[in-house]
Amino acid sequence: MVDKVQEQVEALRRLAHTPLQDCIQCGRCSAGCPVAFKMDLLPHRVVWELAQGNLETLLKATAPWQCVSCFACQNRCPRGVSPAAVMEALRLTAIRQQGANKYDAAQLEHFDPELPQQALVAVFRKFNK
Ligand code: SF4
Ligand code: SF4
Repeated sequence: MVDKVQEQVEALRRLAHTPLQDCIQCGRCSAGCPVAFKMDLLPHRVVWELAQGNLETLLKATAPWQCVSCFACQNRCPRGVSPAAVMEALRLTAIRQQGANKYDAAQLEHFDPELPQQALVAVFRKFNK
């Protein structure tokens, strides 16, 4: 059980791919986040929780779904850490665990043909893993 949790923590860290250990908990990221007032875990706290390996706290947080991926946190960080990447890793993990949230190439016909190609690629990256 412990190994399974550790595996999931490592998978999350790999997905986030940001130097968690460099975070000094200065809070600049949270101070600049436009939706921090709605979050149950602020961006600096999300970074800290992943550094500590607190999987349960992270997976039940609603903050990743409030995050609008504006990257203000990443831009403000003096240590090159990206809370935005941690938020994205948490969203991806939740989506992958749901399993049913997947698309395959045959379903492309259901998409608006006017959609930009980048949007289709993004859908595939998010929902086809
Ligand atoms: S701004 Fe960077 S160093 Fe400061 S708390 Fe946020 S992630 Fe950590
Ligand atoms: S990317 Fe997300 S966590 Fe970072 S500042 Fe924007 S809304 Fe906040």
